[in-house]
Amino acid sequence: MGRYTDAVCRLCRRQSEKLFLKGTKCYTEKCPITKRAYAPGQHGQGRRTKLSNYGLQLREKQKVKRMYGVMEKQFRKYFGTASKTKGVTGKVLLQLLERRLDNVIFRTGCAISRSQARQIVRHNHVTVNSRRVNIPSFLVEKDDLIRIKSKDKALNKIKDNLELAKDRSVPRWLEFNAADLTAKVSRLPEKEDIQQPIQEQLIVELYSK
Ligand code: SF4
Repeated sequence: MGRYTDAVCRLCRRQSEKLFLKGTKCYTEKCPITKRAYAPGQHGQGRRTKLSNYGLQLREKQKVKRMYGVMEKQFRKYFGTASKTKGVTGKVLLQLLERRLDNVIFRTGCAISRSQARQIVRHNHVTVNSRRVNIPSFLVEKDDLIRIKSKDKALNKIKDNLELAKDRSVPRWLEFNAADLTAKVSRLPEKEDIQQPIQEQLIVELYSK
């Protein structure tokens, strides 16, 4: 699967918004968005033109894609699934993204970024209902029990991450137990559980053209 490999801070600066892609640095004064609050590139400091409606829709879609670390093809697939599912398409889309296993690991605070969470999953440190799952896009269901099973070095890293994330609250749809590194999905996530402001209707408008 393709992956964005350029400097991730550029993505936040392009968006003029923190997307928390890097981990620890995102929570410190070293975050470039506070130091260089303008778009990246040679003309980044030039006059900003007002975005068209299409531009706004596109930006919002790019933002959500980047937040969750999903490429265009997969994001479109999520949209296709959401539009065929009963309910409000935009909300179902966000719910699908939130239910990704890498996102769950990030939300518990066991990883400092979604990309690190993806690595934890890929490296076989996670079980769902006692079965090992190493697919970051795996979608959790209500009542699933997610457990992190790491040893030594990896376990120490996760404990460090939990310490760093102690001010970040775990969303209410997850019952997280830091002592045994388990998380139970008590219900499916709602839009209100996502702290970052997202205008999902703009994405629906974009894809519905
Ligand atoms: Fe974005 Fe984090 Fe980089 Fe700040 S440090 S610009 S929040 S990725």
